[in-house]
Amino acid sequence: MASLPFFDEVELAEVDLLLVSHFHLDHAAALPYLLFKTDFAAPVYMTHATKAVYRVILQDFVKVSNVAVEEMLYDQQDLAASMQKIDTLNYHQQLEVEGIKFWAYNAGHVLGAAMFMIEIAGVKILYTGDYSRVEDRHLMAAEVPDDKPNVLIVEATYGRQIHEPRETREKRFTGAIYNAVRRGGRVLLPVFALGRAQELLLILEEFWDSHAELANIPVYYTSALASQCMNIYQTYINMMNERIRAVHHVRNPFRFNHISNLRSIRDFDDVGPSVVMATPGMLQSGTSRELFESWCSDRRNCVILAGYCVEGTLAKDIMSMPPTITTLSGRTVPLSMSVEYISFSAHSDYEGTRDFVARLKPAHVVLVHGDANQMQKLKEGLDRDLADLELEILPPKNCDVVELHFSGEKVAKSVGQLARKRPKAGQAVSGL
Ligand code: ZN
Ligand code: ZN
Repeated sequence: MASLPFFDEVELAEVDLLLVSHFHLDHAAALPYLLFKTDFAAPVYMTHATKAVYRVILQDFVKVSNVAVEEMLYDQQDLAASMQKIDTLNYHQQLEVEGIKFWAYNAGHVLGAAMFMIEIAGVKILYTGDYSRVEDRHLMAAEVPDDKPNVLIVEATYGRQIHEPRETREKRFTGAIYNAVRRGGRVLLPVFALGRAQELLLILEEFWDSHAELANIPVYYTSALASQCMNIYQTYINMMNERIRAVHHVRNPFRFNHISNLRSIRDFDDVGPSVVMATPGMLQSGTSRELFESWCSDRRNCVILAGYCVEGTLAKDIMSMPPTITTLSGRTVPLSMSVEYISFSAHSDYEGTRDFVARLKPAHVVLVHGDANQMQKLKEGLDRDLADLELEILPPKNCDVVELHFSGEKVAKSVGQLARKRPKAGQAVSGL
């Protein structure tokens, strides 16, 4: 319950439309609850790819959530029923519900991710969801809409931080792996099952292709979920970038020669150097935690944190290299393995967001999806760097109401007698 959005703060029965930007749990996992445990009754839209991944990802979520039946937010039946209620749309397809016009743009970030333009009474609002302006190995960069919004609601996750260039981070990534396996070590890559995992697999496959000396070192990904989703990735190659589509004519880019799937960690023969990609991404529990605890005291080994790490998780804690860690069973063990933080996070950084805002020039910018500190830093940066645009940049807290006023031009059309004689300016017209 604590992880749900603050539904109590909203008159759910009065909501006209729900747009889901992408399949990540923080954007999609409350949907079955919203549909069947509240009085929400509006239409729901997402892209086809988002819907396909949503289903498998939430099936897994329900299966692995380790709570008593009476505490479950929803079950597999609710999830299956939610599939009937979700409508899909393509990028750029314009739809209208209750006078609200809306359409989607490619957001980069993960497969199927969308930004939504919403037009109500002539006012345009662009909601970015999670987005990235940088093309990677398989996804396009987020589009810059031709339509200029009046209001931009933009993610502030990375605040003022600037990501290192893609080439540099890939070199650091493959370099750290190479060094560890060559010294006889094991490499652990804790990841979220979907999104960045596929990007890292593409990098590893290419690296193993070009380094024959690594041929005997196995690379695994350990999630049944990831292997299910690999099929979906294979299906939606047409939504990915040129690079993937070009390769696709020769071979399937998501069918790997050097990487295999371990259905369960029980099948894993841990006898020598290897690279294992495992969930969850922040080492909270599960396979990645299990491997981490058994590998962390050997200095030859290496763990690479490739995504955003939330405060209070083990992944965040080990970034500062404490001498020991506490295992899930309560033992204290030394932390000797090397710890690398190489962010592959496909969220916009400061430069990406600054340039995006500069090109769209919305009168109002609302920052969301960031902690208060990062939002404040982003606001200060934009206020300074884009001062000449005179934007209003708002970093509201959860549940703060943002009130904006628009006095748009209104058009009335008349027919019949009234239209026969064109009225003069200032003349009152009645009978419409
Ligand atoms: Zn996301
Ligand atoms: Zn998110």
